[in-house]
This record gives sequence, structure tokens and C-alpha cells, in this order.
Amino acid sequence: MTGIVVLGSTNMDLVAFVAHAPKRGETVTGREFRTVPGGKGANQAVAAARAGGDVAMIGAVGSDAFGPQLRHTLESCGVDIDLLRTAECPSGTAHVVVDDEGGNAIVVVPGANGTVTALAPGEEALIATADTLLLQLELPLSAVLDGAEAARRHGVRTVLTPSPAQPLPPELLAATDLLVPNEHEAATLTGIADHRSAAQELLRQVPEVVITLGSAGCLYAARGTEPISVPAPAVHAVDTTAAGDTFVGALAVALGEKKPIGQCLAWACAAAALSVQRPGASSSMPYRTEIDAAS
Ligand code: ATP
Repeated sequence: MTGIVVLGSTNMDLVAFVAHAPKRGETVTGREFRTVPGGKGANQAVAAARAGGDVAMIGAVGSDAFGPQLRHTLESCGVDIDLLRTAECPSGTAHVVVDDEGGNAIVVVPGANGTVTALAPGEEALIATADTLLLQLELPLSAVLDGAEAARRHGVRTVLTPSPAQPLPPELLAATDLLVPNEHEAATLTGIADHRSAAQELLRQVPEVVITLGSAGCLYAARGTEPISVPAPAVHAVDTTAAGDTFVGALAVALGEKKPIGQCLAWACAAAALSVQRPGASSSMPYRTEIDAAS
């Protein structure tokens, strides 16, 4: 039985480090270039696998040179990629320019991710074996909805990260068990800046919400219970890239182990706090032994 299935994106991040980002028509010489495997789906899959989950990934890489690299990253972290598709187009890419002040400008080209418009044969059967389905919004909404509804048919818990922030169709929220926005996404979804009030508003549409609050930890709210605030461990953060994905991956593992919700949230906060103390995205994600030692 696969504990966690991720239906989501895989991207290769192409990162150039420059003194200042080029203006229109300008060419600048960069200092350094890195290729970093990413995509919110793949990041959550790696986070959950490192946290000890039994994880399978559904999505698509491209037929270019990045495809095998993206597959290898997932496989080497123990993620089952048997059903990961190869589309006849380039892999998803994120073109990132980071300047000397740490500011960035990003162009995302969905590539193969954009070809995943619905579940393919066999994918619903895989979801049916899972305890939890992790979803984000970097695949076409039609596929996200297809996955959520398949999970609902089979009694599989759906956890949706509503990123990138955008209005959501009511059918998708109706098929979501746990929504995990950050503060900005919660405000975009509700039009309410205060996160406690935003959580209450979101509970009109989904039964459980976790709003992540960066260095302030998270707020959990469920219908009919008092909200729970969980502080983040006080740490020196050097790179918060993929902190949210680390949080969700670890949370899914803890939920699957049926720990009390307070413990699940504290464990996810411990995992995310470890990730922000190291540079990188998936490479910064902690292993289970590290999370246990820190929580
Ligand atoms: P990202 O987009 O960087 O992946 P996010 O915006 O989705 O992150 P955040 O709310 O910033 O999500 O962070 C997710 C979780 O990571 C928080 O709930 C918290 O547990 C942890 N975290 C983030 N920043 C820090 C920090 N500076 N110190 C400790 N923990 C942190």
C-alpha cells in the first residue's frame, strides 16, 4: 500500500546569480548558474519520502535532457515514479534570476506539466491505494480536480496547497479535506487579511485548514473545535525556499501515522525549521531521524 500519492508538477529550476537583474533590452553577465530540481509536486514528494513516507508521484516530465534528471532526483529519494509520464515536449522549467540583494524574478514555463489535464489509466487505481493525496496548483486545474474527485470516491484524504494563489472552483474545495495555504494565499482566497478570520471563512468550504505563518509557525482550524496555534522553533533561517513544501510533506506522513493533530503540526514545523537552516529546495529537506531528534 502506498501511503502518499502526489499529483503535481516537476520542474527544473534554472537559476542565474547576477549583480542586478537585466532591464528590458539589457544583457548582463552572471556570476554563477545552477540547475535545481523543483516543482511544488516533486518537492512535496521528496519531503514526504525523506520524512519516512511511502510515496508515489503522478505527473509528467518532458522528453528533453531534464526529464531523466528529474526522474533520477525523485527515484534517488525513494519516490515511486512508475506512473510518472514522459510527454513529447520540454520539461517544466523555472527561469530564476537572483540579484545581489537576494531579490528574484522568475518565469515559469509549465512544459510537460501542462499536458497533465486529466488522470490517465492506472492513476486512479494508484490513488485508491493511498492514505493521502497531495495536490498543488502547478498542474492544469482540470487534473487537480480529477485527482481530488478520484480520491474522494475512494475515501482517500486530500491535502491541497493552493499555490500559486488563484481563485478556486467550488468543486475543488468540496473535494478537499485539508487546505494548507500560506498567509498570502489565505488572504487571496478569502479577501481577509487577518489569518484567524481567514481560517474561519475557509472552514465554510473545507473541513480543516492549516495556515502556515513563516517564522510564526502555523494555525490549525477545524469545524466545531478551537483553533490550535503551533509556534515554529526559533532558528537562524538562511533560505526559506520550499519551507511550505517541507511542512506539507512531513505533515502528510504524520497524519498517515494517526498521531494527534497537535503532534503532527509540531513535527511538520520541526521539519520545516530544519529546511530553512540550509540552502536549497529539495536538497535542504530533512530526514526522519533529524525531524525526530529536533521535535
Ligand atoms: P515557501 O514558499 O518558502 O515554500 P510558504 O510561503 O509556502 O513557504 P511559510 O508559511 O513561509 O510557507 O513557511 C512554511 C512553514 O515553514 C511555516 O509554517 C514554518 O513552520 C516554517 N518556517 C518558515 N520560515 C521559518 C523560519 N524563519 N523559522 C522557522 N520556521 C520557519
